[in-house]
Amino acid sequence: MSSPSPLFDRLALIGVGLIGSSIARAARAQGVVREIVATARSAATRRRLAELGLADRVVDTNAAAVDGADLVIVCIPVGACGAVAAKIGPHLKHGATVSDAGSVKAAVLRDMAPHLPDGVHFVPAHPVAGTEHSGPDAGFASLFVGRWCILTPPEEADPAAVERLAAFWRALGANVESMPAVHHDLVLAITSHLPHLIAYTIVGTADELAEVTRSEVLKFSAGGFRDFTRIAASDPTMWRDVFLANKDAVLEMLGTFNEDLSRLTRAIRRGDGEALFDHFTRTRAIRRGIVEIGQDSPAPDFGRPHPDLPIAPLPRPYAASDDG
Ligand code: NAP
Repeated sequence: MSSPSPLFDRLALIGVGLIGSSIARAARAQGVVREIVATARSAATRRRLAELGLADRVVDTNAAAVDGADLVIVCIPVGACGAVAAKIGPHLKHGATVSDAGSVKAAVLRDMAPHLPDGVHFVPAHPVAGTEHSGPDAGFASLFVGRWCILTPPEEADPAAVERLAAFWRALGANVESMPAVHHDLVLAITSHLPHLIAYTIVGTADELAEVTRSEVLKFSAGGFRDFTRIAASDPTMWRDVFLANKDAVLEMLGTFNEDLSRLTRAIRRGDGEALFDHFTRTRAIRRGIVEIGQDSPAPDFGRPHPDLPIAPLPRPYAASDDG
């Protein structure tokens, strides 16, 4: 059986950390692009990319990376996306698709779109998959398998270009959904950004407690705290940018969260066991619902993507619908 022809001829990756290197590995494994050209900000990362052999060519500048590329994916912290778009804008090939992997979408749309010329398709994307690790060594081909990739195309986007990018992400194993950027930011504020903020807070709070020693915190960390420490180990630059870029949605969700926390605080203070029991019963049902729709398993730590997980075979010949 002949292998399907690639969806895109040349993929350019700008920024090759956890996400960029996972895209490179998965795109290669699935044969969805003919050639990968990559660049990173620092010479050290570019050297490492060459050592790992993640791209066919590693180049020194963003302009050189996008030259002649059919698909450009910017995989850097969201706060830096606008400046990179300004640099690559004049060098993009007519008809190319430009995308990103940022965890916030409205700010990326606002910052990048003005720098991209007519005749280039801009389709922002967010693969909702990750780990607390960073850099090109941290990536793996199966990172996106069974995970969601959310596309947030602007209203005027070309449907064929959107579908082609969707086919690319499906080929990498992801489930794809499209929604407006502002709605994405609201959804992710509660499902991802607020949980990270809570993890950063609680780990910081535990660290500052005078009456509990640091060694005790580490020793007894299995009691729920351990999971928070993993989340709170996530990249500081990335998460600083997420909170700055998604300020309004995070503040809105934080307001609701604080009200709920006050309600639970009052229940504890008043010894209101019924209120606590009712609340915990409701949240347990939510957890069961997540397991039922296949976004997690009852087994501990399943939610962490596993580097050894085989990348799923493609469900259908993905080259067929690339323009349609
Ligand atoms: P990462 O592993 O830390 O890699 C970041 C990459 O961006 C590196 O190549 C780095 O280059 C480059 N970079 C950093 N600051 C830059 C700047 N100011 N200008 C240009 N390049 C810069 O990060 P990541 O986890 O792959 O995240 C990349 C994007 O994916 C972020 O927008 C993040 O929000 C999004 N995302 C992350 C996750 C996750 O769980 N990590 C999940 C979904 C989406 P050097 O190595 O040369 O410094």
